[in-house]
Amino acid sequence: MSESHTLIWKQIESLIAARVSRDTMERWFSNIDLFRVDDTDIVLEAPNQIYQFWIETNYLPVLSDAIETVLGGRRRLAFQFRERDPLSEKPEKRLPQAVSPVKKRVARKKPKRSEEVAASVGLNYRYRFESFVVGSNNEFAHAACAAVAEKPGRTYNPLFIYGGAGLGKTHLMHGLGHEILKARPGANVVYITSEQFTNEFIEAIGDSSLVKFRQRYRAADVLLIDDIQFFAGKERSQEEFFHTFNALCDSNGKQIVMSSDLPASKIKNLEKRLVSRFEWGLTAELAAPDTETRIAILKRKAKEWRVKLDCDIIEFVAERIRNNVRRLEGALIRLASYGSMNKGELDLKNAERLLVDFLGDEGGKEVTIPEIQKRVAAFYDVRQSDLLGRKRPAQIAMARQVAMYFSRELTGASYQEIGDAFGGRDHGTVMHACRRVAGKCRELEKVRRQVDHLHGELTEPVDR
Ligand code: ADP
Ligand code: MG
Repeated sequence: MSESHTLIWKQIESLIAARVSRDTMERWFSNIDLFRVDDTDIVLEAPNQIYQFWIETNYLPVLSDAIETVLGGRRRLAFQFRERDPLSEKPEKRLPQAVSPVKKRVARKKPKRSEEVAASVGLNYRYRFESFVVGSNNEFAHAACAAVAEKPGRTYNPLFIYGGAGLGKTHLMHGLGHEILKARPGANVVYITSEQFTNEFIEAIGDSSLVKFRQRYRAADVLLIDDIQFFAGKERSQEEFFHTFNALCDSNGKQIVMSSDLPASKIKNLEKRLVSRFEWGLTAELAAPDTETRIAILKRKAKEWRVKLDCDIIEFVAERIRNNVRRLEGALIRLASYGSMNKGELDLKNAERLLVDFLGDEGGKEVTIPEIQKRVAAFYDVRQSDLLGRKRPAQIAMARQVAMYFSRELTGASYQEIGDAFGGRDHGTVMHACRRVAGKCRELEKVRRQVDHLHGELTEPVDR
């Protein structure tokens, strides 16, 4: 790291340290370096993908806030790794023997360029087709994505992927984007969530830059729009997206891919004409993986992350976590971090103990917003209903903001969904609350202790 990078990273680290335990700091952040930073991007260097996975899953808001504070603005975050990725080593080894030296050079060079482009449009390197395990639950969706990647705009348009949380929608979309860029690094691939689309749209109205906003999306060759269920109830964003959608569909060869946790017709408050447009093309469902697929996924990830696990432990995890691949990964990471700290053997009994909170509540529920409201209200000794109301005494306002903050950190809900769950507040209010709580944690020891305590309560397994 250059000196200025060291300095910037030190500042970022110190803000993170104010919000996470010392153990977390040592285990996950002390091994990170700042590799590159500019006006739009920041690239961190980690030993391997486990770090990226763990940090993104657990500390993304903390990290993003720290980056924003130190650099004075948001940056797109990417990781690169010191250890080589075992999956990406394969294709090189398998290069056909008979290629001429010239061709060989081209073949080596191309992936690098497309990887850079992919990272710059926000596609995660972990989410490639190569690392996606195909099983009976997802083979149709996978095949549809592969077909679209091969002939964007000419096969299934739009492609609509739906399925429950953690079943691989985002992974497939990114994979499709990577494939397209591999074949055509110059293609304008745009990946965005409907929540980002909505936020950018609101900003564009605010600072009169709608024309620019529209150009950006309408210039896309391939528009990947994730989690469109967040459009529910947002009429103006829907309207705007409808126009973008039509503009792209009307131009030759442009491709739209959408994902959602529900089929279009089941998304509440989604305009009828949008539903019917979305159903024009092909709809593909992702279902929960069967046992064999779960085992295959665990084995693949264990290899990818260089985790050694006995078959009986893998089977045990696959047997007990059934509905969500993200949770399978979470369990694996938990076991891996144990393995990396304790040199001793990990046996089935230990594994079971380590995973108690993953296994107890299959059905896969993480903490919910009402649960957070209940616990936070009890902690601050206010009524749960006060959190949803308009009263402003300090104690209530504080509890409300803290509950919003945890809703953002611990559930997958968008700012707007959180606002809705807190008596119909708008997304700006929630964003402001989250920032304030984060800020107070940095400044006031007392608040930090309260938040740490609540964090423990909300994430620790309950006695069962
Ligand atoms: P969704 O967008 O449907 O909520 P994601 O695409 O984010 O789910 O997937 C959650 C996690 O599970 C990701 O880390 C992803 O890589 C992984 N995952 C999901 N399905 C598969 C699969 N079939 N093979 C490998 N990894 C998968
Ligand atoms: Mg997703």
